[in-house]
Amino acid sequence: TSLHVAVIGAGIAGLSCAASLQQAGVRVSVFDKSRGPAGRMSTRRGDDWQCDHGAQYFTARDAAFRAEVANWERAGVAAQWHPRVRRFDADGTSSSISGAAERFVGAPRMTAPAAWLASNLVLHTSMEISAVRREDAGWRLHTTGGAALERHYDAVVLAVPAPQAAPLLRDIAPEHAALAAATPMEGCWSMMLQYAAPLALDFDAAFVNLGPLRWVARDSAKPGRGGAECWLLHASAAWSEAHLELDADAVAALLLPAFAQLGPPAPQRWSAHRWRYASTPTPRRAVCIWEAAQGLGLCGDWLNGGTVEAAWLSGRALAQRITAG
Ligand code: FAD
Repeated sequence: TSLHVAVIGAGIAGLSCAASLQQAGVRVSVFDKSRGPAGRMSTRRGDDWQCDHGAQYFTARDAAFRAEVANWERAGVAAQWHPRVRRFDADGTSSSISGAAERFVGAPRMTAPAAWLASNLVLHTSMEISAVRREDAGWRLHTTGGAALERHYDAVVLAVPAPQAAPLLRDIAPEHAALAAATPMEGCWSMMLQYAAPLALDFDAAFVNLGPLRWVARDSAKPGRGGAECWLLHASAAWSEAHLELDADAVAALLLPAFAQLGPPAPQRWSAHRWRYASTPTPRRAVCIWEAAQGLGLCGDWLNGGTVEAAWLSGRALAQRITAG
């Protein structure tokens, strides 16, 4: 086939879609505004530390995704994570959580599966797409602060979060633009804390049901990690939304004491990251959207459930729709 598809967004949904398309013999070019692939499956790296500050772990319940994760494990880019998990409750009690929950992480960092998928694809990074326009010869992509790209594409896939899909859809698919605009996403303040030595705590991760925090994890104890002891804190969506415009120092002044209440001492160093679009409180149940006549596809976690697994499945389902004709 001579089909050439442009995929905008190199998160796990876009990469899943692109890899499936390529496997089916379709030509694919992937574009992302960031310097590398992975989107929200991201890792911050410092001199002697690293920390997954977006997605924390992922499930693999669907058979097709399980098979994909098994591929990732064989390639050494994912592994099961077996943290000792506690939960801290509003009444001041805490308890350990045991159970059969399977948790996977990228290895040696959360970005690894995306990097592995991207290594076989044509990926253009640091390219923010500001508009996609239909011309007689096909789709033209326009980049932020730049001219239109030379090439025409037979189909375009938008694999970006709903608030970023909406403006791209406004002129070409107003109904889908409205759907995306009506799918709000919530922010998440995250903090990365470095310690000179491992903390003597009896847990590696905790669900926190009191105060501003919702999740904390000993990132440096995930499989394959090296470097300094590092803890990751995520604030709740409600707290993050209410404090989205604070600066990092003000956020730290509120979140570090909340972490100290769980037992740990003050960190030697910290940094913070604000996710403006982290989670989708009410994801659409569309799986993906494909307008065959137009050659326009949409995929991403916002269409299928707000998780890494859902995003990967969304991208794969879209590729199947496209190649089905
Ligand atoms: P993204 O990963 O957001 O990818 C979209 C890509 O599009 C990005 O790379 C972006 O740079 C690019 N892009 C956007 N606009 C443009 C444009 N105009 N031009 C070019 N490129 C563009 N999931 C779990 O399963 N478990 C968890 O524990 C978990 N925790 C999370 C915690 C946080 C703080 C966050 C932020 C997310 C978490 N998630 C978790 C959700 C998970 O990360 C997402 O569901 C999944 O990674 C979404 O993949 P995606 O491909 O749909 O979108």
